[in-house]
Amino acid sequence: MDLRPNSDEARDIAYHFHSYTNARVHEQVGPLIMDRGDGVHVFDNHGNKYIEGMSGLWSVAVGFNEQRLIDAATRQMQKLPYYHNFAHRSHGPAIDLAEKLISMAPVPMSKVFFTNSGSEANDTILKMLWYRSNSLGKPEKKKVISRIRGYHGVTIASASMTGLPCNHKSFDLPIDGVLHTTCPHYWREGRDGESEEQFATRCAEDLDAMIQAEGPDTIAAFIAEPVMGAGGVVVPPKTYWEKTQAVLGKYDILLIADEVICGFGRTGKMFGCETYNIKPDIMTMSKQITSSYFPFSAFMMTEEVYAPIADESGRIGVLGHGYTGGAHPVGAAVALENLKIIEERDLVANAAERGAELQAGLRKFVDHPLVGEARGVGLIGALEIVAPEGRADEFAPGKLGAALNAQFLKNGLISRNLGDTLAFCPPLIITAEQISEILSAVDRSLDGFSAEIA
Ligand code: PLP
Repeated sequence: MDLRPNSDEARDIAYHFHSYTNARVHEQVGPLIMDRGDGVHVFDNHGNKYIEGMSGLWSVAVGFNEQRLIDAATRQMQKLPYYHNFAHRSHGPAIDLAEKLISMAPVPMSKVFFTNSGSEANDTILKMLWYRSNSLGKPEKKKVISRIRGYHGVTIASASMTGLPCNHKSFDLPIDGVLHTTCPHYWREGRDGESEEQFATRCAEDLDAMIQAEGPDTIAAFIAEPVMGAGGVVVPPKTYWEKTQAVLGKYDILLIADEVICGFGRTGKMFGCETYNIKPDIMTMSKQITSSYFPFSAFMMTEEVYAPIADESGRIGVLGHGYTGGAHPVGAAVALENLKIIEERDLVANAAERGAELQAGLRKFVDHPLVGEARGVGLIGALEIVAPEGRADEFAPGKLGAALNAQFLKNGLISRNLGDTLAFCPPLIITAEQISEILSAVDRSLDGFSAEIA
């Protein structure tokens, strides 16, 4: 690391407080500073090249130098750089994008509400559901059920819905009224002799029992990612979604599909809901909606969800909610162009085809003694690392994942270690050669990693 007093590294340590980082370790090791991007690759400030196997944060669908998005943003900046949607105001990009999203929805949807991040969208959804229950004269129907290891963001309500210990510990979360049911990870949670389908039945029974114990009339909604991302890339076991939706249907509980990672092609269909035949009442979208070139998010809802909310705003006189940057015209213009590119280049089909190659390649690593499970669907995948036979006590949770991730970096591959799970989520524009590049970097890294811990 370059630690001359005025180096970027030294100034980063001095002034920049990082997200999802051990602050005390950062003060010692400093940052990896990225300088520029080109397609699926990024380059650091020393000129080292990496294949971005995570699309940044699961989000840069069209790669790191898409001129059309730059042009769309520039055109909008020149025409109308900012406007809002408070007090009946609107603008072309928001109208076009709302119409476009409704036309793409996997089930009939009625309205789109615009926000700035996935966290903010999920937080807003919970507020809207409280408002809706009050409107319906059901003030007790306010709880939400999420899942252990689900990820829905970091604001107070969305972090509460997230089911990961580091998002709760010392933040005094979760708030009351947010519950977490079984994580549907068959490889970790399935019992001896239990089939995948039996495990899915048990997950649905656990959900049913939680609803019964809490009182069905107190539960407003269930929130879930079609495929869990940040919780470790957990692909639902066979029949999970069918059985889960049957339970929700019994009790008039709304289903919020958090498509922040899965949406816009990631799983090989436009939405994760299509891959798993999920019929959501509300859908959260962010990340790939603008390829993260602009902070942007949205959620859409059915008429059944929308109507009581609209009625309540009518009774009160105004919907007391909205964000200065919500429906930002530049973000909306970037989103429209980004969706156009995804459709024109058929990047959803590419995700399915390249995804099949990625999944087949990852599954070959299960023969390696340090790989416990290879999993994923489309262009989202993971390897879960296990300690060598008889040596589990030597490695604290997350240690092996971090060590392998460091090897990946040495081999020019960016992944993300989620505990001992290494995630892969490359841009949707990736080619077959670049999938091979990822897989061969994994192969070389596993050898280096095995030698290191031998
Ligand atoms: N929901 C899901 C499924 C996510 O993966 C994320 C972020 O990774 C969020 C919500 C939160 O989004 P943001 O980081 O934009 O607040």
